[in-house]
Amino acid sequence: MQPVKKSQKLANVCYDIRGPVLEYAKRMEDEGHRILKLNIGNPAPFGFFAPDEIIEDVIANLQDASGYSDSRGLFAARKAIMHYAQEKQLPNVGMENIYIGNGVSELIVMAMQGLLDVGDEVLVPAPDYPLWTAAVSLAGGRAVHYVCDEAAGWFPDIEDMRGKITPNTRAIVVINPNNPTGAVYPPALLAQIVELARQHQLIIYADEIYDKVLYDQASHTSIASLAPDVLCITMNGLSKNYRAAGFRVGWMIVSGERHHAQDYIEGLNMLASMRLCSNVQGQYAIQTALGGYQSIDDLVLPTGRLGRQRDLAWERLTAIPGVSCVKPQGALYLFPRLDPKMYPIADDQQFILELLRQEQVLLVQGTGFNWVNPDHFRVVFLPNTDDLNEAMDRIERFLDGYRQR
Ligand code: PLP
Repeated sequence: MQPVKKSQKLANVCYDIRGPVLEYAKRMEDEGHRILKLNIGNPAPFGFFAPDEIIEDVIANLQDASGYSDSRGLFAARKAIMHYAQEKQLPNVGMENIYIGNGVSELIVMAMQGLLDVGDEVLVPAPDYPLWTAAVSLAGGRAVHYVCDEAAGWFPDIEDMRGKITPNTRAIVVINPNNPTGAVYPPALLAQIVELARQHQLIIYADEIYDKVLYDQASHTSIASLAPDVLCITMNGLSKNYRAAGFRVGWMIVSGERHHAQDYIEGLNMLASMRLCSNVQGQYAIQTALGGYQSIDDLVLPTGRLGRQRDLAWERLTAIPGVSCVKPQGALYLFPRLDPKMYPIADDQQFILELLRQEQVLLVQGTGFNWVNPDHFRVVFLPNTDDLNEAMDRIERFLDGYRQR
């Protein structure tokens, strides 16, 4: 029989967070190994559950949720998102500019499918949350990576960004707070990105899914709030701020200058209609989540569970010889660097696999985030302090051994 092959559209699409190392880990688990998983930003398995009031509202509305909703989403849910947009000072947002999706993931894919033709380029950060690069490739475009500078707290290098703009560039992606680096960008830096977008007529895609997961009293500015004259698409959702990743609820808000983008917006409307609507049960969580008590605020305090775990993971990692790490100001991750003189790694996927085999700790290699050099890895600090300490003991032991090779 003829082999059934995947489409050529998938040739350059890659999503290593759930890639071959995870498959290997699953096989190890099937064989009875206990693996410490610091690989995926999924809060619930670590005891970070969605607030009760959200669950109660979803349950109370289950019957009403058995039909399709409007393709863009339930009115009340979008109204709540509109108020949130007003709080974040997003300019001129109306109900018709809000689209609810099955998580931000679906909307990223939708937004790129609707925009890109072969040859179009999108500026995406390196390191990035790799779905952005994958979605650009799947849509036939080319992700051009601008560097985020570790020496500058992982802030985007504006000159690098500027140098990579070509006549084919359509958009800039800004992930803030950032996954995997944990950087939170100040308004002055965001204003520089807006200025570039303005000069070159680029769309700004802002992935702000961690905008409430902030440490050390960091504050978050939506880039769209600084760009009333630029087309901005801001993405957010319930997965992280409200620990409801399994509900699959996200939204995108089209703000700023829209007149020249009517055709693209028609395309987005069509794509939203084609998938009928997003999961309606989950949509019922939005109003309560956005309007209710913001329990994330307690978790990120220095005494809160997330705050303590971030500090512990950062302290333990940076105490290991040859490991340095910018302390994250937001999100759920650390992105440490291994000094290449002490850790001459040729293939970081292999390195992460060796760690898994030897110590049963699962991380994701830095190149999985489109970071070019094999000298970083990502750590999720969602496990409780006992498990984090145990994972850090094992990572430390592995790295001690690696240095002595
Ligand atoms: N954007 C970023 C930066 C993320 O880290 C994630 C998930 O980890 C997503 C988007 C996807 O979120 P969702 O659960 O809304 O699809």
